[in-house]
Amino acid sequence: MAFAIISDLHSNLEALEAVLARTEMLGVSEILCLGDVVGYGADPGPTTRLVMHHCKWTILGNHDWGLFHSLDDFNPLARDALHLSRRRLKPHWLVPGRRAAWEFLRKLPERMADHGFLFFHGSPRDPVMEYVLRSDGFLEPEKMNAIFAAIDRPTFVGHTHWPGIHRGDFKFTQANDDCREFDLNGEPCVVNVGSVGQPRDGDPRASFAVVDRGRVEIHRVAYDFRRTQAKILAAGLHPALAERLARGK
Ligand code: ZN
Repeated sequence: MAFAIISDLHSNLEALEAVLARTEMLGVSEILCLGDVVGYGADPGPTTRLVMHHCKWTILGNHDWGLFHSLDDFNPLARDALHLSRRRLKPHWLVPGRRAAWEFLRKLPERMADHGFLFFHGSPRDPVMEYVLRSDGFLEPEKMNAIFAAIDRPTFVGHTHWPGIHRGDFKFTQANDDCREFDLNGEPCVVNVGSVGQPRDGDPRASFAVVDRGRVEIHRVAYDFRRTQAKILAAGLHPALAERLARGK
């Protein structure tokens, strides 16, 4: 049965709802989540609760990690958004029901193996923090050597918000409307499923993957990003975090 992989939701409720509606239409058997449930957006609570309800499992992203650790290494915009996420998620005796989502995020695992594949937020050798960039194949061959040495089968990641696939020759093929289905052949490769809540490849539509019988397909779904933008501005977050959603950058 086909299953879906989502990543980098970033508190974008409207994008997640659109993706869940599409996965239901596609009839996938389960949904796996590669982390960064929170950060950047204004709806960390509802987004986390939807993930808890719909996903078979979720792994830890760097923004989820940031809820519970020092934010020194985050850029100022990301830091502000994580402060908002903390305020809206932290258990409080006057706001019942927060504890379950808080504990869910605090206990996320760093890696998963399922369906004969491997799953990380960032990369196989540094699961939460390291980016596998599309330029790494020709700029950082040593890094790609180390990453491919750490895997023995097709592997799925998120984190860069840029969907595509690194094959064993380290070449990156970007997923777009003309080229969005890839054979996995059971061989080591690194597939980036893109971002639900903050795409950065110039396409503002939410991105996710569906795996079916050894093939992966990247799907894009349009959603009402104006509603998401209005909430980000109303929450007092930096306007750049709203504006980028219209451009997918
Ligand atoms: Zn992210």
